[in-house]
Amino acid sequence: MKKHNFSAGPSILPQEVIMKSSEAVLDFNNDGLSILEISHRSKAFIDVMEKARSLALELMGLEGKGYKALFLQGGASTQFLMVAMNLLEKRAGYLNTGTWSSKAIKEAKKLDDIYEVASSKEANFNYIPKEYDIPSDYDYFHCTSNNTIFGTQLKSFPKCEIPMVCDMSSDIFSRQLDYSQFGLIYAGAQKNMGPAGTTLVVVKEDILGKVSRNIPSIMDYKVHIENGSMFNTPPVFAVYTSMLTLEWLKNLGGLKGIEDLNEKKARLMYSEIDLNPLFKGFAAKEDRSFMNATFTLENENLKETFETMLKEAGISGLNGHRSVGGYRASMYNALPIESVKALVEVMSELESKA
Ligand code: PMP
Repeated sequence: MKKHNFSAGPSILPQEVIMKSSEAVLDFNNDGLSILEISHRSKAFIDVMEKARSLALELMGLEGKGYKALFLQGGASTQFLMVAMNLLEKRAGYLNTGTWSSKAIKEAKKLDDIYEVASSKEANFNYIPKEYDIPSDYDYFHCTSNNTIFGTQLKSFPKCEIPMVCDMSSDIFSRQLDYSQFGLIYAGAQKNMGPAGTTLVVVKEDILGKVSRNIPSIMDYKVHIENGSMFNTPPVFAVYTSMLTLEWLKNLGGLKGIEDLNEKKARLMYSEIDLNPLFKGFAAKEDRSFMNATFTLENENLKETFETMLKEAGISGLNGHRSVGGYRASMYNALPIESVKALVEVMSELESKA
């Protein structure tokens, strides 16, 4: 039996995508070769790459608006540095909302001056700061749309006269937004898009080419764009599986369809956290993430019983990150609402037992 997979990442993928990608491992396109053993320069794979790139732009409503999509390697962590290498000339503003924002700041600081426009560090990042200014003479502004560890999410984005760069690793393709407000979006695949191994970068071309630095080729977005996201060997399997997930998402009604589903799952989860006296939510209510719900069990004595019940119900991946403790229910796009119902049932059963 398939488990209810609440893992924070790498995480659940649509079952249909798992089936199709495993078929392609055995025989891709009925061609007698595995997806793992074909050239990335073959027509069959170039078609996959082009489809993945165009689906990414289409789902975000960015086609024909001067954006390019790239599937790179090195994870979102490489983007912490790559963003700065390509865009940072003098000074940039960063919103610090958690561990990943802090890491992005740390890497960019190695190149030049970074100013933290605001931070919620003093409250262990349990909320999103809202009052801050972004100086219009900075090179760019960087934020993290969803804080995977702390379970907070930006519900709206600041008006920004300079390019806005956003790490969307843990809520990419989960909701409708005006994506044209961003100059650059990046996201590791391994939560809402595919297996670990590729990172999506969507960049508005006209923000590039403005720094005086001599950027190493592999770190240069322009080089990757000029080479059709094939400057070097791309992670073929991860790109193929991401393409399948993006097709799945499109058939589901795109971002509107998935947003409705994600809202239903989040509402169900948070109403149980709020109504059940045994549990307490970690994040400020107005900033709660629709992807990662963080909560604690108030009575430590019930921990063992709760965890045994979770196991019996086939619920997996619920442990919170060590910096928050407690539990974290990651409800990415591919998690069926039935899994949330199964979790909520265990939580309310625990209440009736206590
Ligand atoms: N940013 C966010 C918001 C993340 O959740 C993660 C990974 N959990 C990262 C960046 C780092 O991604 P990677 O492991 O792909 O470098």
